Formats: sequence, structure tokens, C-alpha cells
Amino acid sequence: MSFGNAIHDAIETKKFGGELSEEIIRAVVAGYTAGEVPDYQMASLLMAIFIRGMTYEETLSLTRAMADSGKRYSFPECVDKHSTGGVGDKVSLTALPIAAACGAPVAKLSGRGLGMTGGTIDKLESIPGFSVALSEERFKRQVEEVGLAIVEAGELAPADKKIYALRDTTGTVDSLPLIGSSIVSKKAATGAGYLLYDVKSGSGAFMKTTEDARELAELLVRLSEDLGIKASAVITDMDTPLGSAVGNALEVRESLRFLAGDEVPEDLSHEAWYVATRLLELKGIPDPQSKVEEALSSGAAHEKFREFVRAQGGDADALDELPVSDEVREVAAPRGGYVARFHALGIGRAALTLGAGRQKKGDEVDPGAGVEVLVKAGDRVEEGEPVARLYGGRNVERAEALVREALEVSDEPVEAAPAILDSL
Ligand code: URA
Repeated sequence: MSFGNAIHDAIETKKFGGELSEEIIRAVVAGYTAGEVPDYQMASLLMAIFIRGMTYEETLSLTRAMADSGKRYSFPECVDKHSTGGVGDKVSLTALPIAAACGAPVAKLSGRGLGMTGGTIDKLESIPGFSVALSEERFKRQVEEVGLAIVEAGELAPADKKIYALRDTTGTVDSLPLIGSSIVSKKAATGAGYLLYDVKSGSGAFMKTTEDARELAELLVRLSEDLGIKASAVITDMDTPLGSAVGNALEVRESLRFLAGDEVPEDLSHEAWYVATRLLELKGIPDPQSKVEEALSSGAAHEKFREFVRAQGGDADALDELPVSDEVREVAAPRGGYVARFHALGIGRAALTLGAGRQKKGDEVDPGAGVEVLVKAGDRVEEGEPVARLYGGRNVERAEALVREALEVSDEPVEAAPAILDSL
């Protein structure tokens, strides 16, 4: 079938709510990736899909076609996790070294962030000397020797990259089959044999309700299993930032504190523990809870992080002095009471304003910028007490206003929401 016929038939079929065959989907994806199908036709098809939806079989075919559109790695023995993204989300930096220290190797391809804060790659790049661009051979060797390697996802699933850019400008991002196929195609191309999805739910997340998050989680797990990946999912809260640090070097610093056994907010320690345990369970490692406990109390997980940093060219000695900005301003509570919520969305926007994230693709992030929240939901605060610290020199007044707006104080005692909302 020619690319021209395929896209024309696909638009005509989907416009009336019909079902696309695997053959047509493959031809459209191949044609668009090769530049043979123009943006205007692809945009028309995406809008028809957005409005009409896709059957599960169509979604699976689209996922497969996008996964096959570029290079595919294979790490059948490795575990990986994927987060749908949130404010202060440092679960990869904490749970993965634990999993690796417990004998579950991790091969991770990760991205830069777009929006409120950096992605895992931006966070790691705040470590002096750390390289996110290893050759394929070196990446594989590090997975074997260290059991943990994280590099920037390059040419994986190029079809998704192109289609996502088009969706972003044509109002077709928030479609469940398009989101599911986009995420799973990249994970399938990465090739880990065991995958845990962390689907965030709340004001600072893509999915605003637990029900929507669960629907996405179910789709991600089903698509992954049908592509031969052993998968599972957890739904976690993103109404408030995870832990206290939001910003690249700040988040690495907080992750290291947790791994070193220092006290961090309970939501972070609970989630890191939980995700590490679930990864070991997925891989079939016996007695996962005691293994996680042992990796943390013995210092093995902390040492694994340092070994991983050294292996990727980073200066492990510099981990004690990460480039956190020394331009610091404290934000005081406007009144006394109980913290009902420190809205993730507002804190994320404040961090972005300070330079921790990107307003648009290609923007430089400031590794030292960000926000530290000093109080969590349920805490009692007095008027004038510091509730957050701002780091960085850009737009500080605006960031302070955003942080103040994000703080919701109640006269009545408040119970904090659980960090783990649901699991599959
Ligand atoms: N993340 C992705 O990778 N793809 C989407 O479509 C949405 C979020």
C-alpha cells in the first residue's frame, strides 16, 4: 500500500469512527516518519483519533509501529520504571540505586524535562562531570558491571517524537490511546524486561484524578504485557510536591540524603521504598522488603549511587557540594494554622520561574535553581514562620508570589493524603 493511499484511507475510516487495520497503521507511521506523509494529513488523522478514539487493538498496533520506527535495545534481565512526571519527583534517583544494590540491574533511557522542572537527565547533569551520552557499548558494559546506567534517550521511537511534536501544536495530546501508545512505544524500544509505571495523579500531574490515572495505568500495563514486558503500576499523589526539594541539584541532594539514611519527608521515603520493593517483586527477587531495608541500612544503595556517578564520569566527591544556588530567599507563612496543602502546580511554576525548568524546548536550565518546601500537609505553622526557600536569582519576586499562592492554610487540623493512592 502506498503511503498516500494509507493516510487517505485512514482519515476516511477514522472520521466515521471505523477501525484501522494494523497494515494501515504501520504504513501511516512509516510514511510520516520518512517525511512522505505531510503534517496536515497526519494532523487530520490525529484529530479524528482524538474525537473517535481507538480500539485496544488499534492502540496496540500503533504502539508496535512506533516502537519499531527506530533503534531497539534489548535488556531482558533489567528492570526500569517510568513516571508520568511530577513536581519534585526523584523516585528514579532513589528507588533505582536501591533496586540495583539488591541485584536488579537497571538500564534506563531518560529524557530532559519540558515544563515545570527538569527531567532525570537534567537532574543528573547537575552533578559535575556527569555524562548522559554514553556509547551503546559503554552503556551495555556499565549495566553489566555496575548494574545501573542512565543515559539520554536518543533515536528511540522517532515516530513518537515526530507525532508528539505535532500533537503538541494541534490540540491532540490529551487522548488516552495516543498517550498510552506514545509512552509504551518508547519503553518497548528501551527493551527492559520488567517495568513499573508510576502514574501521578493530582494538580501537578498530567492526570488530575485517581480514576483517570488508573485508566491510564491499566492501559500502560496491558500494552506492555502484550509487547512482552512484565509490567505493573502504582498511582501516586501529585497534589503536593514529593519530598521537599524541587529543582535539579536540590533534588539530587535530597535523594543522596535519603540514601545516606538522613531524614527526609515521609512521602519521599515511603514512595522510594515502595517502588524499589515493587521492582524487586516484579523481577521475582525473594523477600524484597528485607532486601530494600538491608540495602539502605548497610549503605549499599548509597554506595551504588556513587559508583554509578563515577562510572558515568561524575565527580563522586562533588556530591557533597552540589551546585545549589547560594542566592537564597525565605518565604514566610502569611498566617498561622495547619498546612492543608502546598499545591504542586504552584510550586512547580515557581521553580520554573526561577530557572529550574524550561518554558520552551531548548531553554537552558539553571541547575542550582529551585524551591525547598519546609512544611508538609498536616504541619502546624505560625505566622511569619519560614515555609519555603527559593534558590536562584531569576524572577524571585514572581516566584515568591507563586509560592505564597500555593500555600493553603486551614484553621482545623488536617490529615495528609497518602503518597500511594492505588496500585495494579
Ligand atoms: N508522555 C509521553 O511520553 N507521551 C504522551 O503522549 C504524554 C506524556
